[in-house]
Amino acid sequence: MDNEITLSFIAKSENEALARMVMSSFISAIDPTIEELSEFKTVISEAVTNAIVHGYEEDGVGKIEIHAERSGREIVVSIVDYGRGIQDVTQAREPLYTTKPEQERSGMGFTIMESFSDDVDIYSIPDRGTTVTITK
Ligand code: ATP
Ligand code: MG
Repeated sequence: MDNEITLSFIAKSENEALARMVMSSFISAIDPTIEELSEFKTVISEAVTNAIVHGYEEDGVGKIEIHAERSGREIVVSIVDYGRGIQDVTQAREPLYTTKPEQERSGMGFTIMESFSDDVDIYSIPDRGTTVTITK
């Protein structure tokens, strides 16, 4: 492993921009193309937004941790929350599946994460939290 960081912040939407910035800086070591960088930032945004709006459902009530590792050109990032968790992970991954249609969510977050990365692993325990691990 060549580098490793952990970032911890309260689940507030204003911290999403911070997470994106820190993570873009972290992957600059692999000299990403503009497209790779933009896709990576989108993946981070989708995962952090999910933790805020679904994990905790309210701004500022819980903690989010991002753990990132780089080995050569491989990046592995975990986004961790200690919120409500996901009852059915297979269903949550399906395109257009959302539990918040009233908030104009499109249910495309996990689909976007999958298309912009090599692997998306979701580990979740109801009422304990969710860890989404992205490999790129
Ligand atoms: P969009 O991402 O398009 O705005 P969405 O967030 O509903 O819509 P996904 O990101 O694909 O869609 O997530 C699908 C569903 O999985 C969510 O509606 C929610 O029920 C559940 N989910 C996702 N992340 C979490 C999380 N961290 N904690 C609890 N539930 C989650
Ligand atoms: Mg989402």
